[in-house]
Amino acid sequence: MRVEQFDPAAVRAGTKQALYLDVAVLASGDPLRLPVLLAQGAASGPTLALLGGVHGDEYEGPHAIRQVFQALDPAVLRGLFIGVPVTNAPAFAAGRRESPIDGLNLARVFPGRRDGSPTERIAFWVDRSIIGRADLLIDLHSGGTHWALPTLVGYDARDTAAGRASRAAAVAFGTPVIWGHPQLAPGRAVSQAAVRGIPWLYTECASGGWLDREVVAVYVRGVTNVMGYLGMLSSSADVGAPRHRLRGTGTVEEAQRTTTAGFLDWEVRLLDTVERGQLLGRVYGPAGEVREELRAGAGGVAVLLRATPSVAAGDPVFMVAERD
Ligand SMILES: [Zn+2]
Repeated sequence: MRVEQFDPAAVRAGTKQALYLDVAVLASGDPLRLPVLLAQGAASGPTLALLGGVHGDEYEGPHAIRQVFQALDPAVLRGLFIGVPVTNAPAFAAGRRESPIDGLNLARVFPGRRDGSPTERIAFWVDRSIIGRADLLIDLHSGGTHWALPTLVGYDARDTAAGRASRAAAVAFGTPVIWGHPQLAPGRAVSQAAVRGIPWLYTECASGGWLDREVVAVYVRGVTNVMGYLGMLSSSADVGAPRHRLRGTGTVEEAQRTTTAGFLDWEVRLLDTVERGQLLGRVYGPAGEVREELRAGAGGVAVLLRATPSVAAGDPVFMVAERD
């Protein structure tokens, strides 16, 4: 189906449908398509939009969206479920964070361009056709090939109606770690939701280039919990309070970077509290010589570590968040 013709309201109440939206024809002649999983509840209710595979080397989100969709019974669903399991298909096909076609990171180009490069066109149509229809957006990410993060939910921490709704949904999702962002750099699917006044969540986890089924189970449970919280499902889970409430920018471009190449080894673990100046880890040369000592540029909770030991000078390797 041409993406311009996509109208989820036309899907009959109480049914599910999987379809592809044609966004463009690539130079190779292959279509650039968005896979969409739709479940139209028998009763009316909110619209939940889910994105997976915005980065092509993150597999838990795509798997979780498919599992939630397969388990959904539209006869007892209230509202509309729209899932895009593999949002950047060329990046997924290549198993890479960025698209191999235009080199772009889909999570930096929203709201995209109608006549732009393939990644920009995906952003344009995801914003217009999916995000723009949502009452809540959940963008399911993972650490990808190089980074480890605790399994967490990020949310809009502004004191606005959308921010308060985002925070409540983050708690309902039920991960032990939630991370509030009072500001968010533009270009992400979730920052585009914020522009539209739509509450949003994203998820992260430690995973790299493989599928972690335990994380998939957390994501499936979390999405289901949020659907219960929104009233789309009658089940509701008592998930308890998060153990770690974090706050900060969450912008990986602001992460601490190496200044040398070599073998990176950490002295800290995820969720450790670190002091400014504390030794975080070292970069070793091949014979074990210390090339660099990494020291914390700021105190806080370790929330991102580069998990691939092979590093180049300038690689982003470490981030802290504040305790909320
Ligand atoms: Zn990602």
